[in-house]
Amino acid sequence: MGQFFNTFPGGTRPQLARSRGFSLSQDEKGKGPVLRCAIPAPLRQYLDYLAPADWHGPIVRGARVRAPLGSRTLTGIITATVDSSSVAPGKLKSVSAVLDESPLIDTRMMDLLCWTADYYQHPPGETLMLGLSVRERRGQAPANIDQPGFELSLRGKGLAEDSLTRAPRQRALVAALREGPKSRVELLAAGFTGANLRSLAARELIKPVSMQTVSEWRSQPSLEANPEQASAIAAICASVGQFSCHLLEGVTGSGKTEVYLQCISQMLARGRQCLVLVPEIGLTPQLLKRFEERFDAPIAVLHSGLGNAERDRNWQRARLGEAAIILGTRSAVFTPMLNPGLIVVDEEHDLSLSQQDGLRYSARDVAVKRAQLSDCPVVLGSATPSLESMANATSKRYHWHQLTRRATGAQPPRKQIVDIRGLDLNAGLSSTLETSISDALNAGEQVLLFLNRRGFAPALRCHDCGWVAECGHCDARETLHRKPPRLQCHHCGAREAVPEYCPGCRGRRLFATGLGTEQTELALRANYPEVPVYRVDSDSMSGRQAMSSFADEVAKGGPCIMLGTQLLAKGHHFPRVTRVGVLDADAMLFSPDFRGEERLAQLLTQVAGRAGRAQRPGEGRIQPRHPDHPIIAAVLDNDWTTLSEQLLAARRQQGLPPHGALAALRCDSPDANAGLLFLQQLAERPGAARAQGGARIVGPLAAPMARRAGLYRSHLIVAGRSRGTVQAAMKDLVAAAGEQRVPTGLRWFVDIDPSEPL
Ligand code: ADP
Ligand code: ZN
Ligand code: ZN
Repeated sequence: MGQFFNTFPGGTRPQLARSRGFSLSQDEKGKGPVLRCAIPAPLRQYLDYLAPADWHGPIVRGARVRAPLGSRTLTGIITATVDSSSVAPGKLKSVSAVLDESPLIDTRMMDLLCWTADYYQHPPGETLMLGLSVRERRGQAPANIDQPGFELSLRGKGLAEDSLTRAPRQRALVAALREGPKSRVELLAAGFTGANLRSLAARELIKPVSMQTVSEWRSQPSLEANPEQASAIAAICASVGQFSCHLLEGVTGSGKTEVYLQCISQMLARGRQCLVLVPEIGLTPQLLKRFEERFDAPIAVLHSGLGNAERDRNWQRARLGEAAIILGTRSAVFTPMLNPGLIVVDEEHDLSLSQQDGLRYSARDVAVKRAQLSDCPVVLGSATPSLESMANATSKRYHWHQLTRRATGAQPPRKQIVDIRGLDLNAGLSSTLETSISDALNAGEQVLLFLNRRGFAPALRCHDCGWVAECGHCDARETLHRKPPRLQCHHCGAREAVPEYCPGCRGRRLFATGLGTEQTELALRANYPEVPVYRVDSDSMSGRQAMSSFADEVAKGGPCIMLGTQLLAKGHHFPRVTRVGVLDADAMLFSPDFRGEERLAQLLTQVAGRAGRAQRPGEGRIQPRHPDHPIIAAVLDNDWTTLSEQLLAARRQQGLPPHGALAALRCDSPDANAGLLFLQQLAERPGAARAQGGARIVGPLAAPMARRAGLYRSHLIVAGRSRGTVQAAMKDLVAAAGEQRVPTGLRWFVDIDPSEPL
């Protein structure tokens, strides 16, 4: 490497640096600037370093460094350059290398990542890694994609005319690129070889550039938008190059996806990229198919189901502007884009958009922030938007677009309650529901049944002594599975063989209670042997292709029964389903979470809404154990707008989000009391009350599931009128926690706007 730096003409160095917007004045005085870096370690601060003595290239925000930390050397990111550090001058270490001469993470993304670290109060080094692909985090160069073009790197521009004398073709190539970037095709036509390009790229004298031209992105003609769609599309596209946030509320089948497609089409025509986020990997294939049918434009998919190499390449395609549309799950919200034009968050109410470990963030909220920092519109779509978004829509902070009819003119489903109190059920099916299923199948139609519990039965008990199979690591029961036979904990994943006799009394009368999808599947197969029965849960749909091949089978249109959990309830397009049944509808009613009712109402509305998407009217039958519970009744009688108003009124009364804000400082510890004690000391330390500035601290409390995967869980809740008050109080708590002695094995972390039950 060194030899190329030596060829830098000394006199032009400050000019080069200034042209990149960074001043080397300190360096010129011989002291060198201080690099403030985010290093991937659980530290809640940025770390200061000096540039390496032999580095004469530019130092830019968003470039990577290799930096020593303790006995290790880690890949970090320069977040700023400052004149002086609080670290004593002699103690300041140098980074061992600067890896990028221009920012690998652009300014807007750096701003977003730093905002994310600050807002969620998470260690910045860990947070900023989300702005890199897997290989980039390891310090490797960005993935090699079939680059359409090349230009000289800074190093290449600084190369003296008389270098490369022993490699005339490479020298000629550098000379050709002095005129400006050239496409790969052009260079090959001029007689250069792929090997010439590779060897100069390996020596970092040239680098890939996007040669993408706008006219290459085309769209097929779209459907004629109905007036509601047209007004949403016009409003969203009116804000090209400008931030605005749009809530698109529309029942299943009302044409939300068509609105996304038409907005994307307009953005592509302007040469801008679009980012589309969905909550589940399972939803990507069908959306991808619709995108591919509509657009003659490169699409990059980003989710955890891809291998690292493919993900890294798609990441780089997005960064260089080679990918027109980026479709991904929550962490794709940090995908780099050359020219962002629109962000879409589909099923914005979905819990899967929130990350529940490490950095606990909401991809929806980060997407809105990203749009704001990128000066582009963002669309949040759902049939049942979160109460947070509904509140923002009614207060006019978001533009609110409602699609009130089904786009194909189909009738809305008839929703009906089956009161199952006192009835004999066959694996959860009432005779009314069974008749309804038979009628539908006889008419050649498809049936969708929802049961939100996988496995055969949620509990295994002893008839003689009352023993119940419990997980040895969690405060939870084990679920009985038949295929393959096992007891499994759904919280930590632990598995055990099914015992032959009771471990409590050695009796042999063990029996399963409650209902799971495996059990109902058996009953359905026995009842309806002539039609296929598809079970859709995370056990049966674990392979990469499982979900899409299931969807393909169903799309063929023959009569069938689908039985599934949440996985089936989300956004899927099953136009031939006419009957929907919800079994054990109120299992979520008595959840400890204050969002329990919102979730249940969303789920029931979503599931019931799956029926009758095509021309045939649908029918939704809900079988609750508590048919007179106000939420169940409200779901039957109301649309989401009305329901959400009722739920919001209750939140306002209770002072719960979105009225007021919440955060939690959580502890996990192998010791039953250590977390509670640690949090208590924090809450009761001198001056704590003063520092809270209007926020209330509640707790410490044990989490609703006090032990999970062998760890005892507890938390302090911070509640306040606004996110700002809560933020400030949490900052104070975090600072204090950082100074308090941490017992062995205890981990504490911050959860802002928590989505897990408190
Ligand atoms: P959602 O995303 O709200 O579930 P979709 O966009 O998938 O709704 O639309 C549901 C169905 O209606 C699809 O088959 C789609 O092709 C059709 N559709 C959507 N908009 C229109 C329109 N303006 N004219 C005719 N059909 C439409
Ligand atoms: Zn027993
Ligand atoms: Zn467990």
